[in-house]
Amino acid sequence: MDHPVALISGASRGIGKVIARQLAAVGLTVHVGSGDAARGQRAAADIVGDARLLVLDVTDAASIADATSQVAALDILVHNAGVSGDDTTADQENLATFRIYETNVCGVVAVTNAFLPALRRSAHPRIVNISSGTGSLAWATGPQFAHRGSYAAYRSSKAALNALTVFYADALAGDGVKVNALAPGLRRTGLNATAAASDGDPAQAAAGAVRLALLPDEGPSGEFFSWDGTPVPW
Ligand code: NAP
Repeated sequence: MDHPVALISGASRGIGKVIARQLAAVGLTVHVGSGDAARGQRAAADIVGDARLLVLDVTDAASIADATSQVAALDILVHNAGVSGDDTTADQENLATFRIYETNVCGVVAVTNAFLPALRRSAHPRIVNISSGTGSLAWATGPQFAHRGSYAAYRSSKAALNALTVFYADALAGDGVKVNALAPGLRRTGLNATAAASDGDPAQAAAGAVRLALLPDEGPSGEFFSWDGTPVPW
């Protein structure tokens, strides 16, 4: 890509910050998306390369509009911002927990659509949706899956994100936009207690996202990959 530019949502910490770091390390201009300006500024300052704070709350239409006005060129959009829910089954779920859809699902639609004009001007546009293996319905209904109906709000939000991956890939194929989803694996981040206690290195997950962000033109679209590049069933 000539002069590639990337935007990572939720890059103030966790996997998103490492994706931003890795893309900046290979020479991209990286917009470090963060709903919180101070946290995002600290993250951008901590990254070697061309990393710039972009205040972006994916649930706030005014914030999205403002961010869009600041980014004229964009080649890579990584939807990383995400929030977890309670460890409950759907029958026990407090409806309020499903408000995480506003970040994990609606935020992706709002941010994608806002940045589509810029992506359409790119020679090699890519969208990477940071999903979760826990959102795989094939795994959820398979014999070896441990989670069963737990984390119903979070996991169904990621299943919805997977569906959007397929639908956007289909809708944007004519524009050359490749849209793929990543299952990053369990990583040691602030996302939830399970993730925080994990040994998983966020850098491995970030490398999987970077691979999808830098796909060649003959690469796949509308697919779901694990962090190590192996396919994940929907
Ligand atoms: P994290 O450390 O909690 O980071 C989440 C990021 O999302 C933070 O930067 C947070 O920003 C941002 N965010 C939340 N709501 C936002 C909003 N409305 N607008 C903009 N940014 C917002 O968690 P993580 O583990 O790195 O998670 C990154 C992605 O990986 C998520 O989509 C998550 O579902 C997915 N994932 C993680 C794991 C894991 O084991 N860690 C496994 C599967 C999938 P603030 O700092 O401002 O809160």
